[in-house]
Amino acid sequence: MNIAIIAHDTKKELMVQFCIAYCGVLSRHSICATGTTGKLVSEATGLQVFRFLSGSQGGDQQISARIACNEIDLLLFFRDPLTPKAHEPKEADMLRLCDVHNIPVATNIATAEALIHSLERGDLDWRNIVNPSGVK
Ligand code: PGA
Repeated sequence: MNIAIIAHDTKKELMVQFCIAYCGVLSRHSICATGTTGKLVSEATGLQVFRFLSGSQGGDQQISARIACNEIDLLLFFRDPLTPKAHEPKEADMLRLCDVHNIPVATNIATAEALIHSLERGDLDWRNIVNPSGVK
């Protein structure tokens, strides 16, 4: 499955720790991320991560476009709810697209833990039926 990862600056270390903890399950899937998040995660875990542009440069919009094309099966987006971002409306639209396309999405570590365990158990395999083209 295609998993997209994004973390705001104050959540990047948390995302790195999360990916270290779940490196085993993540390694069985295709991972993409916004620029800096992807760099930090791949350096810390050795996971192969396809990196889009940095979020502020449009990386979240690149991920949004893939969500719109049904090419993302799971979005892990660790948001900082306390710091306003210039590109916040674009991020809100990304979450809207997840709802449009029924993409499982976590915006905090508690939900991410639940989803990663679901992924491990195969509970999200219905995504392969929704996305039979298997675009990876
Ligand atoms: P980044 O983008 O991973 O390139 O920092 C994420 C963000 O929008 O903060």
